[in-house]
Amino acid sequence: MSNRWGIPKEVEEFVKKRDANCIYCGIDFAVNKTSNKLSSSWEHIINDVRLNGSDNIALCCRSCNASKGTKKLEDWLQSNYCSNKSINRNNVALVARKYLEKLSN
Ligand SMILES: [Zn+2]
Repeated sequence: MSNRWGIPKEVEEFVKKRDANCIYCGIDFAVNKTSNKLSSSWEHIINDVRLNGSDNIALCCRSCNASKGTKKLEDWLQSNYCSNKSINRNNVALVARKYLEKLSN
């Protein structure tokens, strides 16, 4: 059983509970329900649809998702969007920090 993005149901449910906030900018999805731009969207931290585990699937707001696009997370963190919003490797959610830690090992 998987959803239309190919994400297994159990991963979807786990991630929805874990990521109540955008994993990048930290915006609270419940508070921003009425703003389409800030509503949640599915994010593959590594931009590969075959990686469907809860370590690669996360929720981020549409604004961050649109800005990140197909960029690698480590490259996107250098963008103006991230510097304007003070998004950096130290304040993104744990799931994204774990990915960045693996890179530096
Ligand atoms: Zn965001």
